[in-house]
Amino acid sequence: MVASSVLGFPRIGANREVKKAVEAYWAGKLSADELTKAAADVKKTSWTSIKAQGVDLVPSGDFSLYDHVLDHSAAFNVIPKRYLGHNLSPLDVYFAMGRGRQADGVDVPASEMKKWFDSNYHFVVPEFAEDTDFKLVFNKAVEEFNEAKAAGVVTRPVVLGPISFLYLGKAAKGASPNFKPISLLPKLLPIYKQLLADLKSAGAEWVQIDEPVLVLDAALNYQSQFASTYAELAPVSPKIMLTSYYGRLDSNLSFVAKLPVAGLHIDLDRAPGQLDEVIAAIKPTNIVLSLGVVSGRNIWKTDISAAIKLGQKAVDALGADRVVIATSSSLLHTPVTLAAENKLTAEQKDWFSFALEKAKEVAVIAAVLSGSQDSKVAEALEANKTSIAKRREFERSSDDAVRKRVAAITPDMWVRKSPFAVRREIQQKSLNLPKFATTTIGSFPQTKEIRTARAKLTKGEITEAQYEDFIKKEIESVVRFQEKIGLDLLVHGEPERNDMVQYFGERLNGFVFTQNGWVQSYGSRYVRPPIVVSDVSRPGPITTQWSSYAQSVTDRPMKGMLTGPVTILNWSFPRADVSREVQCQQLSLALRDEVIDLEKAGIKAVQVDEPALREGLPLRKADWEEYLRWSVSSFKLATAGVTDALQTHSHFCYSDFDDIFPSIQALDADVISIEASKSDLKLLNTFKQYGYSNQIGPGVYDIHSPRVPSEQEIKDRIAAMLETLPDNLVVINPDCGLKTRGWKETEASLANLVNAARWARQTY
Ligand code: GLN
Ligand code: ZN
Repeated sequence: MVASSVLGFPRIGANREVKKAVEAYWAGKLSADELTKAAADVKKTSWTSIKAQGVDLVPSGDFSLYDHVLDHSAAFNVIPKRYLGHNLSPLDVYFAMGRGRQADGVDVPASEMKKWFDSNYHFVVPEFAEDTDFKLVFNKAVEEFNEAKAAGVVTRPVVLGPISFLYLGKAAKGASPNFKPISLLPKLLPIYKQLLADLKSAGAEWVQIDEPVLVLDAALNYQSQFASTYAELAPVSPKIMLTSYYGRLDSNLSFVAKLPVAGLHIDLDRAPGQLDEVIAAIKPTNIVLSLGVVSGRNIWKTDISAAIKLGQKAVDALGADRVVIATSSSLLHTPVTLAAENKLTAEQKDWFSFALEKAKEVAVIAAVLSGSQDSKVAEALEANKTSIAKRREFERSSDDAVRKRVAAITPDMWVRKSPFAVRREIQQKSLNLPKFATTTIGSFPQTKEIRTARAKLTKGEITEAQYEDFIKKEIESVVRFQEKIGLDLLVHGEPERNDMVQYFGERLNGFVFTQNGWVQSYGSRYVRPPIVVSDVSRPGPITTQWSSYAQSVTDRPMKGMLTGPVTILNWSFPRADVSREVQCQQLSLALRDEVIDLEKAGIKAVQVDEPALREGLPLRKADWEEYLRWSVSSFKLATAGVTDALQTHSHFCYSDFDDIFPSIQALDADVISIEASKSDLKLLNTFKQYGYSNQIGPGVYDIHSPRVPSEQEIKDRIAAMLETLPDNLVVINPDCGLKTRGWKETEASLANLVNAARWARQTY
């Protein structure tokens, strides 16, 4: 028999019950017991509904009130001292680590968050030091296994593996300079042994141990640790299904195939090409092979016939009892169920599978491979064939005009007419900005009034015209504010945007939107990524009316504001039938037209934000070059269609681009702004080293906190910057948009910023 399995499930609940309960708990409107109860209901529904789809191996322990990495830290007593001694309950310590706590005399910031591999999910980074005192404070895996059992579902518990857990962590502040978290492995293993032995006594037959680090180049450095760890764990543990996901095992396969585990899971959604070599490597062993054929990362219906072919190959080589059909990764990155969507057309709905529908897909594939004669399985298979055929038909009905335009792209289209030095002089004449010009990153506070007006428009309580009036007033007041404070290059403030990606997606052909397609970004924060379903084009100007209006009410230059092609793509669900490169090119062409239109409308500077450029980097270094090639050229394609007089800006919410610097340079934006307030100014050396010659605005203060930077602080920062950067290249700006800030601190901070810039003009 070929078994079916799901590696993990969304935690939010079909009606966002968990998000609501967690936030109500934070607001003091729900007790801890009520929160536990709300979570228990959602868990129970997940387990029983996954099982009801026919899945054999249902996950437990993957649920989380905030983040699964944080769950492991809390359960293993990996709690930084700053969260202790405040008389908080364990639950409140847990949330304090996740989101900080500022109440009743306690004031601790949140732990650092990082992107979970190449996804948009963020995990809370564990902090380790030599004296980390691991303890199994509670055994979440056993508790949830028992909880599921009581609900009538025998599960396969999920645990994050010890090597990935240590790898994802960082050295705590007090740790010695040479300390490496992985050195704690011998101290951590007893905890895992206890956890796994308890699971075994509780009756778990299998345990899923996630080691996603196995798809990274770095895992090769840990091969001896993998060998010793799993040799120690296997004898006391339930049967171990060791899972890799989000990529290929590659050369790591050489040691992975020798590990004493009962099963190995591979991601065939991201890396279908690895099947043959994995089969060959494990054939002589008894290892059960779990095939991740149903994508945990996208929302497209699985081509079941194609998945069956892959599955059959494994069955032929290993026998049915050694094959499991699975989701490629946890379904954490997909919404709960399509059932809740009633605005998508029937045709569109038929293209997608969300988590629950994917659970059914793994069950059907496994049933077919097991030779099931069940008429329901045959029906599901037929229905899938029909859906896939219809989708293929839709894909063939491409937008010829768009395809032709993409085919006609030539490299000269992504190069500006003249080099930067020439452009700079021309732009200087048209913009007439002072030395150390001041500007902002685009958004101004998104106040409650703005959100209310938008909600009213959606509900039809105000007319389109009334909304437009409202937005115009907002823009005008933001312009007046910037004039009053004394900023040089103004922005319109982005009041009309719900989200920097969704706003553009909604105004382009080729996207659809869900009502309930929530995907966890971090903690209780969920996003609804737009879905690219067909060729992308721009029906008409998107931002020109607002930018022109903003320009019309001031004599100072107004900067247009767009989200870049790479960021729009990376923060959407891409199509699966066309390469990301082509989708990005289509977006670039649409944005190129927008930039040209802005210039025609009299706008003299346009910023194209690419905060997602870096996070889109592939997990394997060998794949970087290819990604950077098309992403950089996409940005250039979007921004190079204008005359030399247009000043292009770009913004990045990060500054860790030491390793991709030549690509940042290759963008050839006239001005870039980067986050620099949090990091030390070391990165500016990289700019110097490479002889970066375009203008640059390293953020002079951190906008992620309400704290107002003093004028002196900003002056010090500018002075420090100027030790490395030539004074004629420096622009003065905060490190990101101000949409999450309040007006009070925005006003005070920007006033200090402008004064500091004035001081710099006199001093340098
Ligand atoms: N222009 C956007 C803003 O100011 C940029 C946001 C971002 O970089 N994430 O909000
Ligand atoms: Zn930013």
